[in-house]
Amino acid sequence: MVFTRYYLPMTDRLSDLLTRTARLIAGDGHSAGLKPVQWQALRYLAVANRFSRTPGALTTWLGQTKGTVSQTVAALERKGLVARSEDSEDRRLVRLSLTPAGYGLLAEAPEAVSDAMTAGLATPERAALEALLARMLTGHLAKRGYRPFGQCADCRHFERDAADGAPHRCGLLALPLSDADADAICIEQEAA
Ligand code: SF4
Repeated sequence: MVFTRYYLPMTDRLSDLLTRTARLIAGDGHSAGLKPVQWQALRYLAVANRFSRTPGALTTWLGQTKGTVSQTVAALERKGLVARSEDSEDRRLVRLSLTPAGYGLLAEAPEAVSDAMTAGLATPERAALEALLARMLTGHLAKRGYRPFGQCADCRHFERDAADGAPHRCGLLALPLSDADADAICIEQEAA
């Protein structure tokens, strides 16, 4: 039998690199004793604003089914890392939050694989990579009708230093926003 050497076309090489990178990054969390999806949920809840710390928003962020995310949240609750509470204004809404143990686990986590991978990049390289990935991801999500999420301060509804803000304001939800809210990510974000 004669074997010929097989060269991947460039597009397939790119796809292969992205797939391997994603697999390595998705493996984060094993060292903390969690499944990767539990780790991703924990990280999401640490950076999402109060409107986005719901089972529904977490389901959208993870791109999984409601049932799977419900099991993930239940596992994190059993481990004492996440707590659920009723919304003070709408009792039908469930809010999720990290417990002190959840924040502690994140604080003690070893360096994230994504941080280790990008540590050697120069600042312009990081900026170029970030812009390309953002374009790829938001384009892909938009085509499928999924929400892109994004940082509050970059949202077109964000009103910095609003007269009746605290100190800022969300024009969409007509609610005050703190400086911490401005840094958080939001399911309702629409890029400015
Ligand atoms: S300003 Fe935009 S990102 Fe911020 S809370 Fe309002 S909708 Fe969400």
